[in-house]
Amino acid sequence: MQTSTNTTTITQADELHRKTNLLQEVRKEDKRTDDGGLGELFRWQVTGQEIIWTHVIVIVLLHVFAVNSFMSYMITTTKFQTTIWGFIVGGIGGFGVTGGAHRYYTHRSFKAKFPLQLILIACYTVSGQNSIPTWVRDHRVHHKFSETDADPHNANRGFFFSHVGWLMQRKHPEVHRRGRTVNMSDIANDPLVQFHTKHFLSFKLLLCFILPTIIPVMAWNESWADAFNVICIFRYALSLNFTWSVNSVAHIWGNKPYDKHIRPVQNAAVSVLAMGEGWHNYHHAFPSDYRAAELGTYALNVTTMWLDAFALLGWAYDLKTPSEELVRRVADNHGDGTRSCGLLENDRHAKNSLSC
Ligand SMILES: [Zn+2]
Ligand SMILES: [Zn+2]
Repeated sequence: MQTSTNTTTITQADELHRKTNLLQEVRKEDKRTDDGGLGELFRWQVTGQEIIWTHVIVIVLLHVFAVNSFMSYMITTTKFQTTIWGFIVGGIGGFGVTGGAHRYYTHRSFKAKFPLQLILIACYTVSGQNSIPTWVRDHRVHHKFSETDADPHNANRGFFFSHVGWLMQRKHPEVHRRGRTVNMSDIANDPLVQFHTKHFLSFKLLLCFILPTIIPVMAWNESWADAFNVICIFRYALSLNFTWSVNSVAHIWGNKPYDKHIRPVQNAAVSVLAMGEGWHNYHHAFPSDYRAAELGTYALNVTTMWLDAFALLGWAYDLKTPSEELVRRVADNHGDGTRSCGLLENDRHAKNSLSC
Protein backbone atom coordinates (compact mmCIF):
# COMPACT_ATOMS: atom_id res chain seq x y z
CA MET A 1 0.00 0.00 0.00
CA GLN A 2 1.28 3.47 -0.76
CA THR A 3 1.95 5.83 2.05
CA SER A 4 1.12 9.49 1.93
CA THR A 5 1.47 12.55 4.02
CA ASN A 6 -1.15 14.89 5.28
CA THR A 7 -4.14 12.56 5.03
CA THR A 8 -7.66 12.92 6.40
CA THR A 9 -9.49 9.85 7.65
CA ILE A 10 -13.00 9.27 6.31
CA THR A 11 -15.12 8.56 9.35
CA GLN A 12 -18.60 8.12 7.83
CA ALA A 13 -18.94 4.43 8.58
CA ASP A 14 -22.54 4.43 7.38
CA GLU A 15 -21.75 5.88 3.93
CA LEU A 16 -22.13 2.50 2.25
CA HIS A 17 -25.35 1.64 4.06
CA ARG A 18 -26.93 4.99 3.23
CA LYS A 19 -26.11 4.57 -0.44
CA THR A 20 -27.37 1.00 -0.45
CA ASN A 21 -30.73 2.10 0.95
CA LEU A 22 -31.03 4.87 -1.63
CA LEU A 23 -30.24 2.51 -4.49
CA GLN A 24 -32.70 -0.11 -3.27
CA GLU A 25 -35.38 2.53 -3.44
CA VAL A 26 -34.46 3.52 -7.01
CA ARG A 27 -34.14 -0.09 -8.15
CA LYS A 28 -37.73 -0.84 -7.19
CA GLU A 29 -38.61 1.09 -10.34
CA ASP A 30 -35.86 -0.54 -12.34
CA LYS A 31 -35.32 -4.02 -13.70
CA ARG A 32 -31.85 -5.50 -13.07
CA THR A 33 -30.56 -7.87 -15.69
CA ASP A 34 -27.27 -9.50 -14.74
CA ASP A 35 -26.15 -11.94 -17.42
CA GLY A 36 -22.53 -12.24 -16.36
CA GLY A 37 -19.90 -13.93 -18.50
CA LEU A 38 -18.95 -13.15 -22.07
CA GLY A 39 -22.60 -12.79 -23.06
CA GLU A 40 -22.30 -9.23 -21.73
CA LEU A 41 -20.10 -8.37 -24.72
CA PHE A 42 -22.94 -8.77 -27.16
CA ARG A 43 -25.82 -7.36 -25.16
CA TRP A 44 -27.02 -3.86 -25.87
CA GLN A 45 -30.34 -3.11 -24.24
CA VAL A 46 -31.94 -0.32 -26.23
CA THR A 47 -34.73 1.31 -24.27
CA GLY A 48 -36.13 3.71 -26.81
CA GLN A 49 -33.87 6.74 -26.44
CA GLU A 50 -33.26 8.56 -29.69
CA ILE A 51 -30.01 7.66 -31.42
CA ILE A 52 -27.74 10.68 -32.02
CA TRP A 53 -26.51 9.82 -35.51
CA THR A 54 -23.83 12.49 -35.67
CA HIS A 55 -22.23 10.95 -32.56
CA VAL A 56 -22.53 7.47 -34.06
CA ILE A 57 -20.84 8.56 -37.27
CA VAL A 58 -18.04 10.50 -35.53
CA ILE A 59 -17.29 7.67 -33.08
CA VAL A 60 -17.36 4.98 -35.81
CA LEU A 61 -15.17 7.05 -38.14
CA LEU A 62 -12.69 7.77 -35.32
CA HIS A 63 -12.23 4.04 -34.75
CA VAL A 64 -11.98 3.21 -38.46
CA PHE A 65 -9.35 5.93 -38.87
CA ALA A 66 -7.58 4.74 -35.70
CA VAL A 67 -7.10 1.28 -37.24
CA ASN A 68 -5.85 2.95 -40.41
CA SER A 69 -3.49 5.16 -38.36
CA PHE A 70 -2.00 2.11 -36.72
CA MET A 71 -1.63 0.08 -39.92
CA SER A 72 -0.60 2.84 -42.33
CA TYR A 73 1.52 5.06 -40.08
CA MET A 74 2.49 3.76 -36.64
CA ILE A 75 3.93 0.42 -37.78
CA THR A 76 5.45 1.79 -40.98
CA THR A 77 6.55 5.41 -41.23
CA THR A 78 6.07 7.00 -37.80
CA LYS A 79 9.25 7.97 -35.98
CA PHE A 80 9.98 6.20 -32.70
CA GLN A 81 9.93 9.51 -30.80
CA THR A 82 6.41 10.24 -32.04
CA THR A 83 5.12 6.90 -30.76
CA ILE A 84 6.67 7.60 -27.36
CA TRP A 85 5.21 11.12 -27.52
CA GLY A 86 1.77 9.59 -28.17
CA PHE A 87 2.02 7.60 -24.95
CA ILE A 88 3.22 10.67 -23.02
CA VAL A 89 0.32 12.78 -24.31
CA GLY A 90 -2.06 9.90 -23.50
CA GLY A 91 -0.61 9.69 -19.99
CA ILE A 92 -0.94 13.45 -19.42
CA GLY A 93 -4.58 13.42 -20.55
CA GLY A 94 -5.22 10.24 -18.57
CA PHE A 95 -3.92 11.83 -15.37
CA GLY A 96 -6.14 14.85 -16.05
CA VAL A 97 -9.16 12.56 -16.20
CA THR A 98 -8.31 10.34 -13.23
CA GLY A 99 -6.59 12.81 -10.90
CA GLY A 100 -8.45 15.89 -12.12
CA ALA A 101 -12.02 15.36 -13.32
CA HIS A 102 -12.50 12.21 -11.27
CA ARG A 103 -10.67 12.26 -7.95
CA TYR A 104 -10.43 16.04 -7.53
CA TYR A 105 -13.45 17.67 -9.16
CA THR A 106 -16.04 14.88 -8.85
CA HIS A 107 -15.15 13.34 -5.51
CA ARG A 108 -13.16 16.16 -3.86
CA SER A 109 -11.00 13.41 -2.35
CA PHE A 110 -8.17 15.87 -1.71
CA LYS A 111 -7.59 19.59 -1.75
CA ALA A 112 -5.34 21.23 -4.34
CA LYS A 113 -3.42 24.49 -4.25
CA PHE A 114 -3.91 26.72 -7.27
CA PRO A 115 -0.83 25.57 -9.22
CA LEU A 116 -2.04 21.97 -8.96
CA GLN A 117 -5.56 22.99 -9.98
CA LEU A 118 -4.03 24.57 -13.08
CA ILE A 119 -2.05 21.40 -13.82
CA LEU A 120 -5.10 19.17 -13.32
CA ILE A 121 -7.36 21.22 -15.55
CA ALA A 122 -4.68 21.60 -18.25
CA CYS A 123 -3.98 17.85 -18.19
CA TYR A 124 -7.71 17.15 -18.33
CA THR A 125 -8.03 19.36 -21.41
CA VAL A 126 -5.38 17.22 -23.15
CA SER A 127 -7.76 14.23 -22.88
CA GLY A 128 -10.30 15.92 -25.18
CA GLN A 129 -13.33 14.76 -23.19
CA ASN A 130 -16.50 16.68 -22.20
CA SER A 131 -16.47 19.92 -20.24
CA ILE A 132 -15.73 19.59 -16.51
CA PRO A 133 -19.34 20.32 -15.36
CA THR A 134 -20.72 17.68 -17.75
CA TRP A 135 -18.12 15.10 -16.72
CA VAL A 136 -18.64 15.73 -13.02
CA ARG A 137 -22.44 15.70 -13.21
CA ASP A 138 -22.46 12.43 -15.19
CA HIS A 139 -20.09 10.80 -12.74
CA ARG A 140 -21.84 11.99 -9.59
CA VAL A 141 -25.15 10.69 -10.96
CA HIS A 142 -23.39 7.43 -11.86
CA HIS A 143 -22.28 6.95 -8.26
CA LYS A 144 -25.52 8.04 -6.66
CA PHE A 145 -27.76 5.90 -8.87
CA SER A 146 -25.42 3.15 -10.09
CA GLU A 147 -26.95 0.48 -12.31
CA THR A 148 -30.36 2.10 -12.52
CA ASP A 149 -31.99 4.00 -15.40
CA ALA A 150 -30.68 7.17 -13.74
CA ASP A 151 -27.08 5.98 -14.28
CA PRO A 152 -25.86 7.59 -17.56
CA HIS A 153 -23.83 4.48 -18.47
CA ASN A 154 -25.91 1.87 -16.68
CA ALA A 155 -23.95 -1.40 -17.01
CA ASN A 156 -27.18 -3.38 -16.67
CA ARG A 157 -27.81 -2.34 -20.28
CA GLY A 158 -24.81 -4.34 -21.45
CA PHE A 159 -21.13 -3.92 -22.23
CA PHE A 160 -21.60 -1.87 -25.38
CA PHE A 161 -24.03 0.60 -23.85
CA SER A 162 -21.88 1.22 -20.76
CA HIS A 163 -18.70 1.45 -22.86
CA VAL A 164 -19.71 3.81 -25.66
CA GLY A 165 -23.36 3.23 -26.62
CA TRP A 166 -24.52 5.71 -23.99
CA LEU A 167 -22.71 8.47 -25.90
CA MET A 168 -24.56 7.54 -29.09
CA GLN A 169 -28.08 8.15 -27.84
CA ARG A 170 -30.09 10.61 -25.77
CA LYS A 171 -29.93 10.14 -22.04
CA HIS A 172 -32.72 8.23 -20.31
CA PRO A 173 -35.24 10.68 -18.79
CA GLU A 174 -34.35 9.31 -15.34
CA VAL A 175 -30.76 10.56 -15.78
CA HIS A 176 -32.10 14.09 -16.12
CA ARG A 177 -34.73 13.71 -13.39
CA ARG A 178 -32.41 12.20 -10.80
CA GLY A 179 -29.50 14.26 -12.06
CA ARG A 180 -31.23 17.38 -10.82
CA THR A 181 -30.87 16.02 -7.27
CA VAL A 182 -27.08 16.07 -7.52
CA ASN A 183 -25.36 18.99 -5.84
CA MET A 184 -23.13 20.82 -8.36
CA SER A 185 -22.71 24.08 -6.43
CA ASP A 186 -18.98 23.58 -5.85
CA ILE A 187 -18.38 23.23 -9.59
CA ALA A 188 -20.70 26.13 -10.46
CA ASN A 189 -18.83 28.38 -8.02
CA ASP A 190 -15.31 27.38 -9.01
CA PRO A 191 -13.80 30.35 -10.91
CA LEU A 192 -11.17 28.24 -12.67
CA VAL A 193 -13.80 25.77 -13.90
CA GLN A 194 -16.00 28.67 -15.00
CA PHE A 195 -13.13 30.17 -17.02
CA HIS A 196 -12.24 26.79 -18.49
CA THR A 197 -15.85 26.04 -19.45
CA LYS A 198 -16.27 29.45 -21.07
CA HIS A 199 -13.33 28.84 -23.40
CA PHE A 200 -13.71 25.07 -23.45
CA LEU A 201 -13.64 24.47 -27.20
CA SER A 202 -10.58 26.68 -27.79
CA PHE A 203 -8.65 25.04 -24.95
CA LYS A 204 -9.64 21.59 -26.17
CA LEU A 205 -8.54 22.22 -29.75
CA LEU A 206 -5.28 23.75 -28.59
CA LEU A 207 -4.22 21.31 -25.86
CA CYS A 208 -5.73 18.07 -27.13
CA PHE A 209 -5.03 18.34 -30.84
CA ILE A 210 -3.02 21.32 -32.12
CA LEU A 211 -0.08 21.60 -29.70
CA PRO A 212 0.52 17.85 -29.32
CA THR A 213 0.61 17.57 -33.14
CA ILE A 214 2.90 20.54 -33.73
CA ILE A 215 5.53 19.41 -31.22
CA PRO A 216 6.69 16.24 -33.08
CA VAL A 217 6.89 18.19 -36.34
CA MET A 218 8.92 21.01 -34.80
CA ALA A 219 11.02 19.00 -32.35
CA TRP A 220 12.12 15.96 -34.38
CA ASN A 221 10.95 16.72 -37.86
CA GLU A 222 8.04 14.29 -37.95
CA SER A 223 5.73 14.53 -40.98
CA TRP A 224 2.41 16.28 -40.45
CA ALA A 225 0.53 13.16 -41.55
CA ASP A 226 2.27 10.92 -39.03
CA ALA A 227 1.96 13.42 -36.19
CA PHE A 228 -1.73 13.95 -36.91
CA ASN A 229 -2.53 10.25 -37.21
CA VAL A 230 -0.66 9.20 -34.08
CA ILE A 231 -1.79 12.06 -31.83
CA CYS A 232 -5.21 13.15 -33.04
CA ILE A 233 -6.54 9.80 -34.15
CA PHE A 234 -4.80 6.80 -32.63
CA ARG A 235 -3.90 8.29 -29.24
CA TYR A 236 -7.29 9.96 -28.92
CA ALA A 237 -9.27 6.80 -29.76
CA LEU A 238 -7.15 4.66 -27.45
CA SER A 239 -7.39 7.13 -24.54
CA LEU A 240 -11.16 7.34 -24.82
CA ASN A 241 -11.44 3.55 -24.75
CA PHE A 242 -9.22 3.35 -21.67
CA THR A 243 -11.53 5.77 -19.84
CA TRP A 244 -14.66 4.00 -21.12
CA SER A 245 -13.34 0.64 -19.89
CA VAL A 246 -13.86 1.83 -16.30
CA ASN A 247 -17.59 2.20 -16.97
CA SER A 248 -17.88 -1.08 -18.86
CA VAL A 249 -15.20 -3.68 -18.04
CA ALA A 250 -14.79 -2.57 -14.40
CA HIS A 251 -18.54 -2.94 -13.93
CA ILE A 252 -18.68 -6.44 -15.39
CA TRP A 253 -15.58 -8.66 -15.05
CA GLY A 254 -13.77 -9.05 -11.72
CA ASN A 255 -14.15 -9.79 -8.02
CA LYS A 256 -16.02 -7.88 -5.33
CA PRO A 257 -14.04 -7.87 -2.07
CA TYR A 258 -15.78 -4.85 -0.57
CA ASP A 259 -19.42 -5.09 -1.65
CA LYS A 260 -20.76 -8.12 -3.47
CA HIS A 261 -24.18 -6.53 -3.86
CA ILE A 262 -23.05 -3.93 -6.42
CA ARG A 263 -21.85 -4.44 -10.01
CA PRO A 264 -18.48 -2.60 -9.92
CA VAL A 265 -15.53 -5.01 -9.67
CA GLN A 266 -11.76 -5.07 -9.13
CA ASN A 267 -10.01 -5.36 -12.50
CA ALA A 268 -6.21 -5.08 -12.66
CA ALA A 269 -6.11 -4.75 -16.46
CA VAL A 270 -8.36 -1.69 -16.32
CA SER A 271 -6.13 -0.27 -13.60
CA VAL A 272 -3.11 -0.54 -15.89
CA LEU A 273 -4.93 1.11 -18.81
CA ALA A 274 -6.81 3.70 -16.75
CA MET A 275 -3.97 4.59 -14.39
CA GLY A 276 -5.41 3.06 -11.22
CA GLU A 277 -9.14 3.35 -11.81
CA GLY A 278 -9.83 -0.37 -12.16
CA TRP A 279 -10.19 -1.01 -8.42
CA HIS A 280 -13.77 -0.11 -8.94
CA ASN A 281 -15.54 -2.26 -6.34
CA TYR A 282 -13.45 -0.47 -3.71
CA HIS A 283 -14.01 2.91 -5.34
CA HIS A 284 -17.80 2.56 -5.30
CA ALA A 285 -17.66 1.46 -1.66
CA PHE A 286 -15.30 4.31 -0.68
CA PRO A 287 -15.63 7.02 -3.36
CA SER A 288 -13.97 9.68 -1.20
CA ASP A 289 -10.63 7.84 -1.01
CA TYR A 290 -8.09 9.82 -3.07
CA ARG A 291 -6.33 6.55 -4.02
CA ALA A 292 -9.53 5.01 -5.51
CA ALA A 293 -8.06 1.75 -4.21
CA GLU A 294 -7.02 0.10 -0.98
CA LEU A 295 -4.13 -1.94 -2.29
CA GLY A 296 -1.75 -2.25 -5.15
CA THR A 297 1.55 -0.77 -6.16
CA TYR A 298 2.09 2.53 -7.93
CA ALA A 299 2.49 0.53 -11.15
CA LEU A 300 -1.19 -0.36 -10.85
CA ASN A 301 -2.20 3.09 -9.65
CA VAL A 302 -0.10 5.69 -11.44
CA THR A 303 -2.57 8.43 -10.53
CA THR A 304 -1.97 7.85 -6.82
CA MET A 305 1.78 8.00 -7.41
CA TRP A 306 1.45 11.47 -8.94
CA LEU A 307 -0.96 12.68 -6.25
CA ASP A 308 1.44 11.48 -3.53
CA ALA A 309 4.25 13.32 -5.32
CA PHE A 310 2.17 16.52 -5.35
CA ALA A 311 1.38 15.92 -1.65
CA LEU A 312 5.13 15.86 -0.93
CA LEU A 313 5.36 19.23 -2.68
CA GLY A 314 2.47 20.47 -0.54
CA TRP A 315 0.27 21.19 -3.55
CA ALA A 316 -2.13 18.33 -2.72
CA TYR A 317 -3.31 18.16 0.88
CA ASP A 318 -6.13 16.82 3.06
CA LEU A 319 -5.93 13.56 1.13
CA LYS A 320 -8.86 11.47 2.30
CA THR A 321 -8.60 7.78 3.14
CA PRO A 322 -10.90 5.57 5.22
CA SER A 323 -9.51 3.87 8.31
CA GLU A 324 -8.27 0.34 7.80
CA GLU A 325 -10.78 -0.79 10.42
CA LEU A 326 -13.69 0.68 8.42
CA VAL A 327 -12.50 -0.97 5.21
CA ARG A 328 -12.10 -4.30 6.98
CA ARG A 329 -15.56 -4.05 8.54
CA VAL A 330 -17.23 -3.19 5.24
CA ALA A 331 -15.35 -5.99 3.45
CA ASP A 332 -16.23 -8.51 6.17
CA ASN A 333 -19.90 -7.57 6.14
CA HIS A 334 -20.50 -6.95 2.44
CA GLY A 335 -17.59 -8.39 0.41
CA ASP A 336 -17.28 -11.67 -1.48
CA GLY A 337 -14.37 -12.84 0.69
CA THR A 338 -11.54 -12.06 -1.75
CA ARG A 339 -10.06 -9.04 0.02
CA SER A 340 -6.98 -10.94 1.19
CA CYS A 341 -5.62 -11.09 -2.38
CA GLY A 342 -2.64 -8.75 -2.41
CA LEU A 343 -2.98 -7.65 1.21
CA LEU A 344 0.12 -6.52 3.02
CA GLU A 345 2.12 -9.29 4.65
CA ASN A 346 1.52 -7.91 8.13
CA ASP A 347 -2.27 -7.91 7.76
CA ARG A 348 -2.65 -11.22 9.50
CA HIS A 349 -6.27 -10.79 10.51
CA ALA A 350 -7.49 -10.65 6.94
CA LYS A 351 -4.95 -13.17 5.68
CA ASN A 352 -6.10 -15.71 8.23
CA SER A 353 -9.79 -15.10 7.94
CA LEU A 354 -10.16 -14.79 4.20
CA SER A 355 -8.96 -16.77 1.21
CA CYS A 356 -8.39 -15.89 -2.43
ZN1 LIG B 1 -18.48 3.08 -11.71
ZN1 LIG C 1 -15.92 7.84 -9.06
